[in-house]
Amino acid sequence: MKYILALIFNILIPVSLLGQEQKAAQYLQKIRNNEAQLTAFMAQMPKGGDLHHHFSGSIYAEPLLEKAIKLDYYLHTETMAVAKDQAGQKNWKRFSELASEGRLEGIKNEILRRWSVKDFYTGFYPSDQLFFESFDKFLPALHEEYSPGMVELKNRAIAENVSYLETMFTPVYSKVNIQDLTAYDAELRQLMHQSDQQAVLNLLENIYSKLMQKESMNQAVIWNNSFIQHLHDSLKIDDERFSMRYQKYVLRFKNPVDLFKDIVISFMSANQSDLVVGVNMVAPEHGENSMKDYRLHMLMFQFCHQKFPRVKYSLHAGELAMGQVAPENLTWHIDEAIHTAKANRIGHGVDMPYEKHSYELLRYMSHQKIPVEVNLVSNRFILQIKGDKHPIKLYHDFKVPMVISTDDAGVLRTSLTEQFVLLAKSYPFFTYANIKQLVYNSLDYSFIKEAAIKQKLRQDLDRRFKEFEAKIP
Ligand SMILES: [Zn+2]
Repeated sequence: MKYILALIFNILIPVSLLGQEQKAAQYLQKIRNNEAQLTAFMAQMPKGGDLHHHFSGSIYAEPLLEKAIKLDYYLHTETMAVAKDQAGQKNWKRFSELASEGRLEGIKNEILRRWSVKDFYTGFYPSDQLFFESFDKFLPALHEEYSPGMVELKNRAIAENVSYLETMFTPVYSKVNIQDLTAYDAELRQLMHQSDQQAVLNLLENIYSKLMQKESMNQAVIWNNSFIQHLHDSLKIDDERFSMRYQKYVLRFKNPVDLFKDIVISFMSANQSDLVVGVNMVAPEHGENSMKDYRLHMLMFQFCHQKFPRVKYSLHAGELAMGQVAPENLTWHIDEAIHTAKANRIGHGVDMPYEKHSYELLRYMSHQKIPVEVNLVSNRFILQIKGDKHPIKLYHDFKVPMVISTDDAGVLRTSLTEQFVLLAKSYPFFTYANIKQLVYNSLDYSFIKEAAIKQKLRQDLDRRFKEFEAKIP
């Protein structure tokens, strides 16, 4: 009898579990054209991790504004930028001054409209400019204190059933003096212009050895890593339900040597800390220096990859649209990020249809398991790429691994839930099983270093999915 019961039990359990998953899949098919029903579904669905978002852009504008008012910062009444001190400067006024003039309440909404997409309508302001310019306007308020933002991100993640964040957290802070090296800027660009890649790598080796002779390089690594470690520990960011890890980022508009110094420090930081799991490069890809030096940047990453082979990095590549840059510049950025820079993940990859060898590249990404971080709301707002203009079907058909991310929930006033709603509604070829795979990808392709943490998050995700599927109507 015991044997028979055990046999029945063993057969019944998998069948009933499969049943739950099928039920969820059928329910999704039934509701996927109703946005409210779909939102209820996606809000409760476990979503694993968000691997592509910038810490500063993920915080909502309201708490930042509140802080700036509390600290009585200065506001530029034309641009809506804030600053700690602009005493006596034209158009700059303290918040207390605005309040005493009775203008503060009226101007608050103006500020939110420049710090985020609040009340945005076509014709208000160029959308890409609004997005990228917003950061400089609110950053002084953010830099005052990181803790509230970290807690806000964690709490929001938990509330929408997200268990992991891999945030692009801080730029590189350093006191490394590179006055003696800036003459190499012109030389690097010149060699790049001559397409002499080996000469560029040789020169980078030379600059690298000079940088490594500076004690301030090591000091920068120690300072940057302990800054993160202290915040992470003192706020008890990791707990039973949630983990956060950090990517160090560099700014792609900087001049070559300055940027290279930051890349080296970032790789050193990621090489030495379990919390700093990767490196990224940010700022508009279509910016002047970013476009001019793109190939050079890819070689810098290749160089650092050879020096620090264990360090993982993701690169924003192909976050470009027709009309934004010359068409020939839509044809090679993803390819270079993969083949030259050896990126572990690609951020956006939106211009894939224009890539010169897109089929080969897609096949390569699929075989090598190089995922693309898909940011649907961001692409829709900044690049006007949506519907079947988005290459998501190409990636899907070529079986390139994908993750779904927010980039950035604060400025864009969105959430990870909304990304999945948009995905399920706009792209009906994604089955429930596919969507579930995307969620698991967000842990499997994360840069988490500690195997135990990854395993714990994965097991926790299994449990969350079981719970979720069991309560589907
Ligand atoms: Zn981004």
